[in-house]
Amino acid sequence: MAKTERVEVFLSAADLNARVAEMGRAIEALPPTEQPLVLICVLKGSILFFADLVRNLQRPVHLVFLGVSSYAGGTETSGAVRLTHDLTLDIAGRDVVIVEDIVDTGLTMSYLLHNLESRGPRSVAVCTLLHKPARQKIAVPLTWVGFTIEDVFVVGYGLDYEERYRNLPYIGVMHFD
Ligand code: 5GP
Repeated sequence: MAKTERVEVFLSAADLNARVAEMGRAIEALPPTEQPLVLICVLKGSILFFADLVRNLQRPVHLVFLGVSSYAGGTETSGAVRLTHDLTLDIAGRDVVIVEDIVDTGLTMSYLLHNLESRGPRSVAVCTLLHKPARQKIAVPLTWVGFTIEDVFVVGYGLDYEERYRNLPYIGVMHFD
């Protein structure tokens, strides 16, 4: 019999809104930088989080996009991280914040940190909406974490299952009945 997909609300739009505003205030409170803070949106999962986060900032910012792919398409990471879209800005000497949807095994963030640090930024901070510590394979420094969650597969608010569900305004747990 075909499996039925079911999404159970886990973090409502109001929950997300409140926490994202708090995270925005934390970034806003960073010491002033000589040049605008560089916020890197990690495509595609971070798009909704990124858009809401930057709306909460009044300080000068530069917004840039970095595409990475780590999932083969299902609910398990392949472990091999691939750059699908590179930055259009030289970040040498700049203060950078990586904005990520979720840190699961840590392999993607570890790759991103090595890749970006090799470009000589002045500082790198990490802002992730979700963190699943139970599945960690490699420890990565996380400056701000929105929600620490159990080992469940979540979709919505940018996160997908086989490219679907990214448009949901909330985060839900995916069930296969
Ligand atoms: P990591 O490399 O830390 O294992 O995984 C990072 C990437 O895997 C995330 O950017 C995200 O695209 C994907 N990922 C990890 N956990 C989940 C999840 O629960 N739901 C979805 N939709 N993607 C996930």
